[in-house]
Amino acid sequence: MTVALNNNYYNQNNEEQLTQEELNFFKEELEKQKNKIQTNLDKKLKELNNHDEAKDEADHASIAIENLTNNTILREQQKTLNQIKRSLNKIALGTYGICTMCEEKINIERLKIQMFSEHCVSCRNELDKQR
Ligand SMILES: [Zn+2]
Repeated sequence: MTVALNNNYYNQNNEEQLTQEELNFFKEELEKQKNKIQTNLDKKLKELNNHDEAKDEADHASIAIENLTNNTILREQQKTLNQIKRSLNKIALGTYGICTMCEEKINIERLKIQMFSEHCVSCRNELDKQR
């Protein structure tokens, strides 16, 4: 991912609000990812529908395995898509980049790496410990 925010580097300051420019940057990146996944999902779903028309028994077996793999991928992509949509929604609401647990600002460097993070580093670590 190209990072065009170097001019606004926050130097680990969690107290700063994201600027409009930064929000636009995240919004654009998230939209791009959303469209990519959406296109891919549509394509895969179309393929799966075509497979259903296959009549051959042997074909059915291999298709079943393929569908299983596809379904796992599709589920993952669906999950990511939902996360992206949630992040975009947050941008619209003005709550993007705020930890859902402690309501502290999430470090922008962290957001750049993982754009749909919903937790700050310390809450994430807490959650990981509980698993
Ligand atoms: Zn937190």
